[in-house]
Amino acid sequence: MHVQFWGAAQTVTGSMHMVHVNDKQLLLDCGLYQGRRKEAFERNRVFPIEAKDVDAMILSHAHIDHSGNIPTLCKNGFRNTIYATHATRDLAVHLLMDAAHIQEMDTKYTNKKRKKQGKNLFEPLYVQQDAVQAINRIREIDYHERFSPLPGVDCRFHEAGHMLGSAVSEIDLNENGKKVKLVFSGDIGRPEMPILRDPETVEGADYIIMEATYGNRLHEKTGDAKAMLKEIVNETFKKRGKLIIPAFSVGRTQQIVYWLDQLAEAGELEPIKVFVDSPLAVNATHVFRSHVECYDEEMIYHMMNEDDNDPLGFRNLHYIRKVEMSKALNNYDGPAVIISASGMCEAGRILHHLKNSIGNPKNTILFSGFQAFHTLGRRILDGHKNIRIFGEELIVHADIHKLESSSGHADQEELVDWAKATAAKSNIKGVALVHCEKDAAEALKEKLDAQNIGPVIIPERGQTWELT
Ligand SMILES: [Zn+2]
Repeated sequence: MHVQFWGAAQTVTGSMHMVHVNDKQLLLDCGLYQGRRKEAFERNRVFPIEAKDVDAMILSHAHIDHSGNIPTLCKNGFRNTIYATHATRDLAVHLLMDAAHIQEMDTKYTNKKRKKQGKNLFEPLYVQQDAVQAINRIREIDYHERFSPLPGVDCRFHEAGHMLGSAVSEIDLNENGKKVKLVFSGDIGRPEMPILRDPETVEGADYIIMEATYGNRLHEKTGDAKAMLKEIVNETFKKRGKLIIPAFSVGRTQQIVYWLDQLAEAGELEPIKVFVDSPLAVNATHVFRSHVECYDEEMIYHMMNEDDNDPLGFRNLHYIRKVEMSKALNNYDGPAVIISASGMCEAGRILHHLKNSIGNPKNTILFSGFQAFHTLGRRILDGHKNIRIFGEELIVHADIHKLESSSGHADQEELVDWAKATAAKSNIKGVALVHCEKDAAEALKEKLDAQNIGPVIIPERGQTWELT
């Protein structure tokens, strides 16, 4: 019995780990690697595993860095079952179709340039039909329901509190009478996050594959995020400026809308127009509305409250799907909040809004999530004054802020608390830290070592981990 780490090993994207048991292969996640363009192109296309030999798959949650390469897996011949929660499946429908559309559009754009230069043309990584194949393979499982993806393997999903449908996987492996309980954290959320329940822990774990995105960081407390949001929105109204919020369409957007809804209902928000400009966010919001089984008590309370009853909608909020309406926002006169994607400003409508707004000191750019290395979002956040959007040189004059405490990932203290709570009910034989830059993993390893939780490894890509 062993695990081999194929992605999110000393990096934050491309989650992909293979469990080998009873001569079978169980894949944990199959995410898209995001990074430098050329490297991502190679990494996502050239699979380190034989897709036809994968016997089953578990999907921890729908985020693209965990699910986004499943269509390639299917395209390469995977024909078995993918296990995921109901909400993960429903969100994956929109995220994978959107990802396929982006792949198709990107390739079309690149090929147009390559054709002019007389270069050979590229195939898209995958197309929408491959995404449909991937979605057809997903079998939905309730939280805490037992299921057996392979002979000798029994699993249960627990709440991970990171995004709608996100799960911590409890995986019981039995090989010739030898039993091992492996826990795969997926991405771990934070206690008291809006909409979602708190992360759960597992009893009797032997080994943990654990995320460590913020293994070296502490967030502000979540209560501060709403107060900060209120202050920045109302300040924007006074300045008659625009507040641009780059946000992931699934999860972060709904969280911000939920806070704005509460502020608006409480009469604490100036009468400013708020636009959610992302077709994916509109679709994802529908999915959020239909998965009551994932809500925490507060969300249910707001939903049942007759004065509000739509915690993801208020009078000045407008969801935008059509391109023409998105373009019309460029000429919108007056203060406004524009929430758009992509969250790291790498593609999508957010680029147009940034191009329009970033040069004006009346405006504010508010980051709300993790900004990976080599992304435009990271460059702006790091204070670079000269940036380039659609080939145009721009100078940053807008205010730049960060709503760090809205992160969907646990910080160092919360990761240690989660590991401690699991270890207290277990006899841990090993922890593998994944989904993080190396310095974050080393900082978390130090903390876990101090708690005698381990031994802790920080696997490299391709490394094998024996489960004994
Ligand atoms: Zn995630």
